[in-house]
Amino acid sequence: MTPGPDRTRDDDLDEALWRLLAASDRDDPTAFTTEHDRAEAALAASPDPHWTAWRHALAARRGLVDGDREATAEAVAGAREALGRCRPGPRTALTLAYLAHVEVTADHFDAAMLLAIDASLLTELPTADGPSRELHQAHLWLSLTLAALDLEELAVAQALQGNRVAARLPGLAEQWRLLQLCAQQHAELAQTLARRGSAERAHELAAAAIESAEAARELGWEPEPSEQDLLDVVQAWAMSCHGDLDDALGPMRRAHRRIHRDGGMWLRGYADLVLARLLTRLAQVEAGGGHDQEATDLMVDAAGAFAATGDRRRYRQCLLELGQSTAAMGRPAEALHWLEAYRTDTGRAHARGRELWAEMFIRRSRLREAERQAAVLRRHAMEDSLTGLGNRRSAERRLGSMRLGEEPVSLAVVDIDRFKEVNDDTSHSHGDEVLRRVAGLLIEHSRTGDEVYRWAGDEFLVVLPTATEQQALAAMERLRAAVADADWGDLHLPESVTVSIGVATAPATAEPDGWRSLFDTADLYLFSAKRGGRNRVRAPGGEGASESSANGAAP
Ligand code: GH3
Ligand code: MG
Repeated sequence: MTPGPDRTRDDDLDEALWRLLAASDRDDPTAFTTEHDRAEAALAASPDPHWTAWRHALAARRGLVDGDREATAEAVAGAREALGRCRPGPRTALTLAYLAHVEVTADHFDAAMLLAIDASLLTELPTADGPSRELHQAHLWLSLTLAALDLEELAVAQALQGNRVAARLPGLAEQWRLLQLCAQQHAELAQTLARRGSAERAHELAAAAIESAEAARELGWEPEPSEQDLLDVVQAWAMSCHGDLDDALGPMRRAHRRIHRDGGMWLRGYADLVLARLLTRLAQVEAGGGHDQEATDLMVDAAGAFAATGDRRRYRQCLLELGQSTAAMGRPAEALHWLEAYRTDTGRAHARGRELWAEMFIRRSRLREAERQAAVLRRHAMEDSLTGLGNRRSAERRLGSMRLGEEPVSLAVVDIDRFKEVNDDTSHSHGDEVLRRVAGLLIEHSRTGDEVYRWAGDEFLVVLPTATEQQALAAMERLRAAVADADWGDLHLPESVTVSIGVATAPATAEPDGWRSLFDTADLYLFSAKRGGRNRVRAPGGEGASESSANGAAP
């Protein structure tokens, strides 16, 4: 990154982005709109595709806030286009995850799913920079998106991953938020599994939720009051899923009262929902306790709040649970009413789609993993691990693909002089270091278009496409001199390092003999250079230009 004004602007944009993400996360439209108005011009001024993608992604959410679906759709398209030009990594993962959340909020489930997959793949890339705020936020938005897609298992997994990242970040705010999210996602999954009859696993998840909630409290961080209220509600819910109904009821009633006094509409709905569930459970264990009607009323209020705040998923959950509880209370007509509403809103296709998504999510992740491993293997197969140069296999492949006889081609075989002595007199690791440095010098001093390979041991191959013998001799003389003139002092070698080089050229006109015979010729002249005293370049047509100066240094 360049220092100066650009750097400052990037920092400012970063700060603005964190505030916008926090406002989105709190679902605070006023704060979001204010921040967004303030940041828009600076975002538009940046030529960096990363900020272009954010400008569109934030505009897409702004469209949701303003109820302008067309603006959202247009901005999503803009963000996707810019994302195509962003470098893979946690920063891009975060933008993708945030956009996925915009899409799921806009009820575009398939699009959200695909974006979530891409984001999750980027969070799995091995990154050099370790845990970062971007990575932590990417997991957070992925978890929120996956929960909204009803993929609660995957949402829990993302929350846990995010929590692991957060634990290694210095900020308590980040750690607190992820622990709260872990608590919430575990509690939600516990509820779902309990409903599906997996009591044991639900119990375990509830315990994990309680543990996360307690860990958040132990951090000693003071969150916004509404965030603290949400944690209280989640913890009470987890306790009821865990079977501690009596312990949960008191704190839950207190949180419920506080939230109905000070909380926003969604949080009121959430508190209603949780208290309703708690009361329903209580009604089941102490039949005739009189909690039934209160639970139903609360659930109806919760459904209203979720419908009003656009949380269709929880709205549907409320309808389903109303149907089930009224049926259990022996009020079939009412139950039918709620279940009909639930069915209309859900549709079977949606459920089937969800199974496909879950499978797709896992399968695509695995496929990408396999591709990544194959790429690593391919690289290992073609690359010399010591020097990073192409290895003999890749050199042979390259030589085999060359069309001799159309244009001149030269080959040069470069061999380190008396290299065995380096190994013997110092150490094998000194020898390795010499090999790495010689490789670096050959690359550094080669002409653009020439290729350097490690052929074997201390022997390198340089391929010079289009070079005549004279050109190749001149180029190789430069390499020889670069090695001889390099500073080897820090390695404390008995002698400084030199190389001998043999060159062979296939002229454009001659009938080609194949690369093996060309290689043999170069090897022959390498032998001749060694016999001639080493630290020199030889070719059928003559010697390197500065032979006389080389002679002085030769042993
Ligand atoms: P000459 O001038 O005739 O080339 O003498 P030389 O000592 O360099 O002889 P030669 O080229 O035959 O020696 C190659 C040596 O390179 C032998 C082997 O021990 C060493 N060698 C091969 N591969 C490696 C490696 O990866 N690391 C190290 N440190 N040494 C290697
Ligand atoms: Mg050698």
